[in-house]
Order: sequence, then C-alpha cells, then structure tokens
Amino acid sequence: MPNEVDDARGDRAQNGRRGRVIVVSGPSGVGKGTLLKRLFADAEFPLKTSVSATTRAPRPGERNGVEYWFMTRDEFLARRERGEFLESFEVYEGGALYGTLRETVEDAARNGDWVVLEIDVKGAKSVVAQIPDAVTIFIAPPSLDALRERLAARGSETPEDVAKRLAQASLELEQSDFYRYRVVNDKLDDAYAELVAVMREIARS
Ligand code: 5GP
Repeated sequence: MPNEVDDARGDRAQNGRRGRVIVVSGPSGVGKGTLLKRLFADAEFPLKTSVSATTRAPRPGERNGVEYWFMTRDEFLARRERGEFLESFEVYEGGALYGTLRETVEDAARNGDWVVLEIDVKGAKSVVAQIPDAVTIFIAPPSLDALRERLAARGSETPEDVAKRLAQASLELEQSDFYRYRVVNDKLDDAYAELVAVMREIARS
C-alpha cells in the first residue's frame, strides 16, 4: 500500500502540483507568526498551514482548530499511541505536549500543497529524518536581548515562562545550523522579503 507520507517526498499530486513539506522554526517571540500570516495572505504559493495539537491552554483569542487543536494530555497520549502524530514533543521541559498530525501532512501531499509546519527544533529533526526533502527554515532574532524585549512586550507569558522561552531560544539558536535557510527578523519588511525569496527558490528547486 502506498505510504501517503512518501508522497510528500516529491511525487506529484493528481492536479500536477508537487506537494512540499516546509518546516519553520524559531524562538517564541521572534515574529514567526507575523511573517507566516503575511506569507499565507500572499497567494503566490500554494501554502497550507498545519494545525498542530497541543495540551497547553488556549491564549485569549485562540480558537480550537485554528491556532491549534487543543486537547487534554490523556487524549493527546491516546492519539500518539495510535500513531496519529508524525512527530510530537514536550517543547519546554516539564511543559505541554505539541505534535503534528500525520493526516494533515498526508492531505497536503495528496493535494500538492506546500504544508508549513511551525514546530520546534526537535520536531524539525524528526520530520527531516522521516521526510528527507522537507525544506527547513529558521527564523532568528537579531539578538537574544531583542528577543527578551519582544517577549516582555507581548505580555502573554508570566516572567517564569519568559525565562523558560529565552533559555529554549538560546538552545535553538545553537542548533540553527541544521536548517537549510536562515532568515533574521530585525526589520519585518526585510525579513519578509527574504522569506519570499526563499519561497521562490523552493518553487524553482
Ligand atoms: P506556543 O506555545 O508559543 O504556541 O508554541 C511554543 C513552541 O511550540 C513554538 O516554538 C512552536 O514552534 C512549537 N510547536 C508548535 N506546534 C508544534 C508541533 O506540532 N510540534 C513541535 N515539535 N513543536 C511545535
């Protein structure tokens, strides 16, 4: 039986388009969300967002099935046991679980979409191990100090969570060499232009 995830490795969908898996990582607060939102609004590329599952509580304004599929730890673990996740990790030590649903990636492959996975470095490595031609992009802050300021300004995390996210950011930055592309988000417009250039390169490859 053909493996649907294999389809994401370069075969064309029935509509003739080549599905792709694009993994985007970067520390919390780096502006990934803003950059990706803008990219999704731009119709130049057949992008599809991958809605991850998480056991963390929704932030104000977050909706189930839009930002994440919010689920209890029990439900998450049961679905993981059934093999429903392509990858899943506790992104912050002792914290919530996050995971990419296998079905989301398979659907995108079938439709020839470019599915964008916004996941952490551990998840990125796991995806590349399973789908070697997944394209990896790391969004980096100009500095850790700049990131600290942005996280504080966002105000959605407790000081303890900000500290956790900064510690995680510094670990992730050390591993950013793993990624095929690196975009530094200092000025949003410049970072966006760089990201579009990366996408155009992907389209040509
Ligand atoms: P947040 O709680 O701020 O929404 O996300 C925290 C971190 O979890 C981000 O770095 C994000 O990339 C990562 N993340 C979100 N969804 C997934 C997922 O499905 N898998 C993995 N491995 N990481 C994820």
